[in-house]
Amino acid sequence: MNLDFTPEEDAFREDVRAFIKDNYPAELRGAQDEGEGLTKEQMLLWHKVLAKKGWVAPSWPVEHGGTGWTPTQKYIWSEETARADCQPVLPFGISMLAPVLYTFGTEEQKQRFLPGIYNGEVWWCQGYSEPGAGSDLASLQTRAERITADDGKEYYIVNGSKTWTTLAQHADWGFFLVRTDPDAKPQSGISFLLIDMKTPGITVRPIITLEGGHEVNDVFLDNVKVPVENRIFHENQGWTCAKALLAHERSGIAGVARSKRNMEKLRTIAATERSDTGGSLIGDAFFRRKVAELEIDLTALEFTELRTLAGESSGKGPGPESSILKIKGTEIQQRIQELALEAVGHYGAPFLRDLKGSNFSVGPDYAEGLAGQMFNGRKTSIFGGSNEIQRNIIAKMVLGL
Ligand SMILES: Cc1cc2nc3c(=O)[nH]c(=O)nc-3n(C[C@H](O)[C@H](O)[C@H](O)COP(=O)(O)OP(=O)(O)OC[C@H]3O[C@@H](n4cnc5c(N)ncnc54)[C@H](O)[C@@H]3O)c2cc1C
Repeated sequence: MNLDFTPEEDAFREDVRAFIKDNYPAELRGAQDEGEGLTKEQMLLWHKVLAKKGWVAPSWPVEHGGTGWTPTQKYIWSEETARADCQPVLPFGISMLAPVLYTFGTEEQKQRFLPGIYNGEVWWCQGYSEPGAGSDLASLQTRAERITADDGKEYYIVNGSKTWTTLAQHADWGFFLVRTDPDAKPQSGISFLLIDMKTPGITVRPIITLEGGHEVNDVFLDNVKVPVENRIFHENQGWTCAKALLAHERSGIAGVARSKRNMEKLRTIAATERSDTGGSLIGDAFFRRKVAELEIDLTALEFTELRTLAGESSGKGPGPESSILKIKGTEIQQRIQELALEAVGHYGAPFLRDLKGSNFSVGPDYAEGLAGQMFNGRKTSIFGGSNEIQRNIIAKMVLGL
C-alpha cells in the first residue's frame, strides 16, 4: 500500500485549488464570514457553479455526469473544499436520491429527474423517519393505498407523518418510504415514492433545534394523491432502494477533511492571547494535552480513511469499515466542537439573535457561533444510522457476534 500522492495527483490538487480561488461565490463567502443564515438561493450558488464546471457529482457514473475521478482524486477534492471553507453541496439529491435513480429507476425516470438534481433546479428532501420509526425504520406506518381514479389513471393515496425531515421547508420534491402492504413482513411491504411537495394534503411544520435554527421539520401527509409512475423500483420492494441509499448517506459522514480544517481553527483560537487571562490557552499543559490527543485520533482516522481508499482503488468495497469511519469521525467532530467552546470560555456561551435573525456573540469574532455549532453538532452521531446502531453492525459484520 502506497499512501504518497503521485505527481499527477499533486497537479490535480493545484487545479482544484485554483478553480476554487477563482470561482467560489464572493456573496457566499461574505455571508459565511458574517455568520448569516443562508437563503435557499445562496445554498444553491456553489452547487450551480460546480454543475456548470461538470464537478457537482463526482461519484455518479460518467454516463450520467460523473467526473470519473479516482477515489484519491475525490479525497483531494474533499480536502481542498474543506480547506477553503466551501459550503458543502446538499446531499439529498446528489448523493442520496441520484444513486437510487440511476440504479433502480426506469429510463424515463432517469431522464425526468436526474437533470434537475444535477443542475440544482429541484430541491429534494428525505422522508424516511417517523415518530415511531427511526433506528427501527422498517416499522414505518405511513400508508399508501393504490386506487384507480375517475380519470382511469392509477394513484397512491398517502396518509401518515414523517419527522426530522431536513430542509423540507425549501423542498420542491421529496423521496418517501411508505407502506403499500400492511400484511407483509415489515421490510417486504414498503415502497419508494417520489412526491411533489406542492401536492394538496402536505403540511410542513418547523422543529426548532437546540441552537435556535430551523433545519428540520415534521411533514404531515393527508390523502396525498401520487401517480403510480412516481414509484421507483417494484411495489413492496422499496426496502432495497432504502438500504442502498443509506450506504451512500453514511459514506460521507466521517468528515475527516472538515475536521482537519476545524482543528486548524481550534489551534489558532487556543494560541490567541486572551485579555481576560493574560495568556494563551495553548500554554496550559492540560489543554495542550487534550488538543494533542485529539490530533492523534484524527490522524489515525485519516489513515484509516486512506487505507479504505487504497482498498477501493484496488477494487475492494468499503464494507463495514464505513461504520467505523462514521463512529470515530462523528465523535472527533463533536470533541473538536467541545474543545473550541472550552477554548473561548465564557465568550462562547451567549448566542443572541439580531433583528435580521442572524446569531452573534458578545466576544471576539472567533468565538462567534461556536456554541451554536456545538449544539447543532450533536446530530452527527444520531443521523445516518445512530452510532449505537453502527456498533451493532460492527459487532455482527466484523466481530461475528
Ligand atoms: C438533525 C437531524 C436531521 C435528520 N434528518 C433526517 C431527514 O432528512 N430524513 C429522515 O428521514 N430522517 C432524518 N433524521 C432522523 C434520523 O435518521 C433518526 O433520528 C435516527 O435514525 C434515529 O432514530 P430516532 O431519532 O427515532 O431514535 P431511536 O431509534 O428512537 O433511538 C433512540 C436511542 O436508542 C438507541 N437505539 C435504538 N435502537 C437501538 C438498538 N437496536 N441497539 C442499541 N441502541 C439502539 C439509538 O442509538 C438512540 O440513541 C434526522 C435526525 C436528526 C437529529
